[in-house]
Amino acid sequence: MNPPAIAIDGPAASGKSTVAKLIAKELGYTFINTGAMYRAVTWYILQKGITPTDTAAVLSALPGIPLSFGKEGANSTVVYEGRVLTTELTEKSTNDNVSAIASIPEVRALLVEKQREYNTREAVVMEGRDIGTVVFPHTPFKYFVTASEEVRAARRAAEGITDSIAERDRKDSQRACAPLVQAEDALLVDTSDMNINEVVAYIISDIQRKIN
Ligand code: C5P
Repeated sequence: MNPPAIAIDGPAASGKSTVAKLIAKELGYTFINTGAMYRAVTWYILQKGITPTDTAAVLSALPGIPLSFGKEGANSTVVYEGRVLTTELTEKSTNDNVSAIASIPEVRALLVEKQREYNTREAVVMEGRDIGTVVFPHTPFKYFVTASEEVRAARRAAEGITDSIAERDRKDSQRACAPLVQAEDALLVDTSDMNINEVVAYIISDIQRKIN
């Protein structure tokens, strides 16, 4: 049996990354940011001059894609040519094209396999869109973290990031393969009127109740 996997899904800028990172820290688990993996593939495809909507071209670049998915301390990383990708992952061009890349089933299959690999070795808090529905459908620890669109847009603006979150959510929810949707057995956590500590405490208490 694999170590525990905590699945945290939700729309863009719902605060799920911050929450997932804090939960991982508190439990001593590894934090895995799966959005960063889709973003890294997108960045690489753009680097190569490939049009993200040209599925055939994307598919021909996928085998042997020179990205490695590791970790530094207790956090997942994506490494390209010996360097951990950071600012590349939130560039406007990456934001604008990631949903197109993430809609390609072969890209998802490749990354889901890498995501599951992390959990064969260690307990994880994994954050994304399809963690509770596709990556770990059998985990008892599923949380769907959301907030009103206004609150989410304000959070992104406060980070100084230009990101059309409504457009990304629409594309992510409407795609055929592994769309953004709350798993039937996920606990819904609306963070619009909660602060981060309240959200973390709420989820941790649910995890502890299920573990004990
Ligand atoms: O979480 P983040 O906003 O960084 O995710 C960026 C994009 O990656 C999402 O808009 C979505 O298109 C894709 N994604 C996904 N499945 C995941 C995580 C992210 O499709 N598990």
